[in-house]
Amino acid sequence: MNSLVDAYGRVHTYLRIAVTDRCNLRCVYCMPEQGIPWRPREEILTLEELLRVARVCASLGVRKVRLTGGEPTLRRGIEKLVGWLAALPDIDTAALTTNGVLLGEMARTLRDAGLTHLNISLDTLRPERFARIGRRDDFARVLTGIDAAIAAGFPSLKLNVVVLAGLNDDELPDFVEFVRERPINIRFIEEMPMPGNGWEGWGRFPAQEMKARIGQHYPLVLVEDADPKAVAADYRIDGIRGTISFITPLSEAFCARCSRLRLTADGSIKSCLFHPAEVNLRHALRTGATDEELITLIRAAIALKPEAHPPAEELAAANHRFMSDIGG
Ligand code: SAM
Repeated sequence: MNSLVDAYGRVHTYLRIAVTDRCNLRCVYCMPEQGIPWRPREEILTLEELLRVARVCASLGVRKVRLTGGEPTLRRGIEKLVGWLAALPDIDTAALTTNGVLLGEMARTLRDAGLTHLNISLDTLRPERFARIGRRDDFARVLTGIDAAIAAGFPSLKLNVVVLAGLNDDELPDFVEFVRERPINIRFIEEMPMPGNGWEGWGRFPAQEMKARIGQHYPLVLVEDADPKAVAADYRIDGIRGTISFITPLSEAFCARCSRLRLTADGSIKSCLFHPAEVNLRHALRTGATDEELITLIRAAIALKPEAHPPAEELAAANHRFMSDIGG
């Protein structure tokens, strides 16, 4: 069979690749303040190895690849990898998620290399809060990066906003105003519990509450022709150029329609963000494995995919990797 189907009939068409575990921010919900010990360089897959795994997955039906991390713009040669992936005949979407710090310098190059879908993470529009959440003083650079991304003309441009109870939940209307004239889809995301992110300290802010908070100021209109594979419905607001979505990994898990596979920076295929099961490909890649042998390993990882992730209370304990290692 030429596709990646798990025990529950879910077909896998989307590969997320963490190209590095390193990051230039230390977001409170993602990484401890002191950072995490970076993996030795030799444990990180080379660009050629990443391409090979993507190519093999594409031969099994993967159509969309997203580069993430860590911070993917820190990976030397990232534009070369984007170009290779975009040129694979079976890949129809080359995407990347970034914190935007380096985008001012890189947006045009990434677009020219063939990147079509760009997500930028930004949790606040207030410089002092940015420094508190990201533990670095780079707010102005991210705004420059967003402008550069708009100027580069990405067909799909999204802003990822993790909503942190008591920290930025008062800014939801400010974000709507931010996209009044900007062609950006904002995705308000429920904060997920991960190891070391102090989740219990922050508490939850469910998407229903986000929707109600925005609804107090702006009437949200559901966009009917949304992509059925999307993890979130899109809403529009009269007079606002951008659109709004809510990502609900906790309050309304999308496990039943999950089409995602993940490749960690050190070469493991994970079929569920929240499940510790994984199959490492690095040894096989470096000891002359054939494509068929790689396919066997990738299928083994898919066979380990659980029907659904455990309840929120168990999630942080269930995972053994940091978010920056898996790629979100
Ligand atoms: N460095 C890049 C960035 O900042 O976008 C890519 C990697 S980051 C791990 C990918 C996405 O995961 C970001 O949008 C980030 O906000 C999100 N993320 C990280 N930890 C999260 C958590 N605990 N809950 C929800 N989203 C999280």
